[in-house]
Amino acid sequence: MKPAYQVGIVGAGFAGLVAALRLQKAGRDSFIIFERASEVGGTWRDNVYPGCACDIPSPLYSFSSEPNPDWSRLFSGQPEIFNYLKGVVTKNSLQKHIRYNAEIVEACFDKEEGYWAVKTRNGLATTVKVLLLAVGPLNRPHIPDIAGLTDYTGTWFHSSNWSTHYNLAGKRVAVIGTGASAIQIVPAIAPSVAQLTVFQRTPAWITSRFDKPMRSSSKAAFRKYPLIQRMQREFFYWLNEFFGLGFVGNKTINRLMTWAALRKLKKEVKDPETRRRLTPNYTIGCKRILKSDDFYPTFNLSHVNLVTERIERFTAKGILTQDGREHILDAVIFGTGFVAADIEMDTKIIGLTDQNLINHWRESGAEAYLGTTVAGYPNLAFVLGPNTGLGHNSVVHMMESQMNYIMQYIDYLETSGPGSYLDIKPQAQQDYNQEIQQRLKDTVWASGCKSWYLNAKGKNTTLYPGLTVRFRKETKQFNQEVYELVKQEEIAENAK
Ligand code: NAP
Repeated sequence: MKPAYQVGIVGAGFAGLVAALRLQKAGRDSFIIFERASEVGGTWRDNVYPGCACDIPSPLYSFSSEPNPDWSRLFSGQPEIFNYLKGVVTKNSLQKHIRYNAEIVEACFDKEEGYWAVKTRNGLATTVKVLLLAVGPLNRPHIPDIAGLTDYTGTWFHSSNWSTHYNLAGKRVAVIGTGASAIQIVPAIAPSVAQLTVFQRTPAWITSRFDKPMRSSSKAAFRKYPLIQRMQREFFYWLNEFFGLGFVGNKTINRLMTWAALRKLKKEVKDPETRRRLTPNYTIGCKRILKSDDFYPTFNLSHVNLVTERIERFTAKGILTQDGREHILDAVIFGTGFVAADIEMDTKIIGLTDQNLINHWRESGAEAYLGTTVAGYPNLAFVLGPNTGLGHNSVVHMMESQMNYIMQYIDYLETSGPGSYLDIKPQAQQDYNQEIQQRLKDTVWASGCKSWYLNAKGKNTTLYPGLTVRFRKETKQFNQEVYELVKQEEIAENAK
């Protein structure tokens, strides 16, 4: 039987939209996008906290096929990125492909038919020849297990579930964490709250963002001569690649980044004791390097306190730290990140055996070939799968590299006849992942810090251990020899 759609895309965030744009560009119109929410945008829809912005310059953090000459700033804020994504959907008439409130609960591969049978929570059931999982790693809030939270009578919420109806103005507020989200929230809310307490467990390495508004003359030039904006994109891309060398073994560049970050800290934080407590004691880059122009100066304000004593527990009125001090608080914001390694999902994904992919990964750690295809789960590909994350450049570039590969995968599958399926050979997947783990050993990420890049067993399942140019090269050419192609005739023969 013919599947209802040639391709099913799970998720309408950046990754899902990269996939949709590429399919459309290739003239492939038979695709459906399953979106669990009622709007596109993924992380840029969900994260609405004050100060939310991207730390990659917007001309680079955008689809290569959809440049936007109208970015208002070099580092655009969440509302603008969200609007950009919605605009791209409208401009390319992608709405007709999207099914909203359609969270996939089950996807089962039918080997007799060579397609995926997919069910959504809201009762939609359909079939797709190829399933593309574009679910993104940063959508499961991590709320640490701190004793007494249920006793706390104040308000609390996670950065990605921002309570828009709670007014922080004039309140005694705490932010737990000093990661990428927290360092944007702290300076954004500091001017309006009565008292701000920042609970830091590990200081982050922070470098300057050099954000600035885009001049109207630049926007006009970008509109008139798109090549100029293209060159700007290339400039930021190669600049990031250059600094990326400092993550993957170049000690001189790593030392340069360390020097710049320490100099910034010295310049921006007046009190020497606060400065000392904000100074990291691990290799720069091991945890994500944060970019901010206004986080450090916030600690010069008299009503902002940095607390580095460990949190003991919540009390009815606030937080008790290990030095026996109770911090009285009206509201607590968890800037405590996400459960990212191993790509947790509620979706049951059943391939050639009965094992759910997510359970399989819980045992082995998330692994895929080129972060894209997984042995035993044919006709399935990830966009931004295991070990495709970055610490230095735009992930949109990685997604587009993966789509270069996936388009060839789909083409090859199509020429192999109806009902056929394509499964990455386990040995190829194993060799690739052994090499990934080997290469990771020489990077800053293996220098001993604890980060969300590592899973519970300490395995780095999230980051690509190299420059993005290398990944682009690796994904340039689809190599059918590392796949097992099963044709329908063989399936019928085996069934006899
Ligand atoms: P994060 O970087 O993982 O930071 C979590 C913070 O919470 C860390 O400071 C962590 O401290 C702290 N924490 C966790 N559990 C704690 C506990 N029990 N007690 C005290 N502190 C605790 O999370 P995030 O800030 O949400 O960012 C996650 C990722 O989202 C980023 O790395 C980035 O990829 C993405 N992001 C990007 C942007 C952007 O501009 N593009 C903006 C926001 C987020 P430890 O360091 O000690 O674990």
